[in-house]
Amino acid sequence: CQATPQDDALSLRSDESPVHGLSEVVVGVLGGGQLGRMMCQAASQMAIKVMVLDPQENCPASSLSYHHMVGSFDESTTVEEFARRCGVLTVEIEHVDVDTLEKLEKQGVDCQPKASTVRIIQDKYQQKVHFSQHGIPLPEFMKIDDLEGAKKVGQLFGYPLMIKSRRLAYDGRGNCVAKSEEELPSAVNALGGFHRGLYAEKWAPFVKELAVIVARGRDNSISCYPVVETIHRDNICHIVKAPANVKWKTRELATEVAFNAVNSLEGAGVFAVELFLTEDGQILLNEVAPRPHNSGHHTIESCYTSQFEQHLRAVVGLPLGDPSLKTPAAIMYNILGEEEGDLGFQLAHQLIKRALTIPGATVHWYDKPEMRKQRKMGHITIVGPSLSNIESNLAVVVEGKRSDDN
Ligand code: ATP
Ligand code: MG
Ligand code: MG
Repeated sequence: CQATPQDDALSLRSDESPVHGLSEVVVGVLGGGQLGRMMCQAASQMAIKVMVLDPQENCPASSLSYHHMVGSFDESTTVEEFARRCGVLTVEIEHVDVDTLEKLEKQGVDCQPKASTVRIIQDKYQQKVHFSQHGIPLPEFMKIDDLEGAKKVGQLFGYPLMIKSRRLAYDGRGNCVAKSEEELPSAVNALGGFHRGLYAEKWAPFVKELAVIVARGRDNSISCYPVVETIHRDNICHIVKAPANVKWKTRELATEVAFNAVNSLEGAGVFAVELFLTEDGQILLNEVAPRPHNSGHHTIESCYTSQFEQHLRAVVGLPLGDPSLKTPAAIMYNILGEEEGDLGFQLAHQLIKRALTIPGATVHWYDKPEMRKQRKMGHITIVGPSLSNIESNLAVVVEGKRSDDN
């Protein structure tokens, strides 16, 4: 890479030089996974330079980024060195070295969203404390430090009881359900013991899981994407349906809760708000991600402005785009590793080949070097005139069977 990102960042800071194109701010992204990759794809259309910091040489964003610095986003000196090369620092993962982000902010480095937001989000217990203090509805929760404490919480909240790791959780790794008091020790052990930092959540008897992507610009303008339904398999997001097939009132309430949650956090970017819809129509917050999210992948094909473009617009200070759907409906299907190694690649390829025959379908492949069970390897988005039309097309992709075959 021959360009000098430092110069770009500096030239932007001087108000005199005219901006060429949309923005000359070099965006530094901590993490180079599929979210970073799709950010690079959106950036390329706007000729915005995106640098990524990721320890893996062949991470998904590597080949598409303006520059890939190989190194850990959880290591102080590396993050500092990376930050020096960027005009604005953002994240595609919340498990980053937040102490360094705070230190850098004090030195004048522009972090979007703010380090304070990443700090709140990366500790799921602190996140819950924060949102409850801001009047956001959420399942009851309590810190647990020992077995006696866990038993007391079990008596209070009842069973099944959800035990969660406070930190480093993703794709449900960090969650364990205790169906009874007897199962508490094994649940705690499965999560690595109390010293890892655990808390308990009351079971949320949801009828649907919903999500809302909320964007906030640098001028604090807030814009919400349509409410979607997320369907999880083994705690991993599997299918996303847009728009969510719920009552108008539910959509309004979900959007309001998501708006209020994001409004309580600092900084620009897109945020994903995961929600539970209960039988009696309540909306409870599950968690927030301070970055683009799996529940927003469909926006690439289905919305006027994708979540990735929106995130870039937000962090570099451009006006936010239109988040509304430009197609009546869309479904996103995650390609999850079904088997390790070559067999896994073969199975994924069969799915992809079928998807390529479907009108309205787009295949995204993240180019991860290794196939592992349950790993997010890519996704397929299908757009169409209605959810039921898309569902029958998705059945062709997943089951290889057309409804008129039988
Ligand atoms: P992500 O990959 O979204 O970051 P995560 O590892 O942070 O996932 P959570 O979002 O906390 O995990 O939970 C994963 C899934 O587990 C939820 O989407 C939901 O299906 C289920 N779940 C979480 N909390 C509860 C709860 N309190 N009651 C019932 N089910 C729950
Ligand atoms: Mg999470
Ligand atoms: Mg989640």
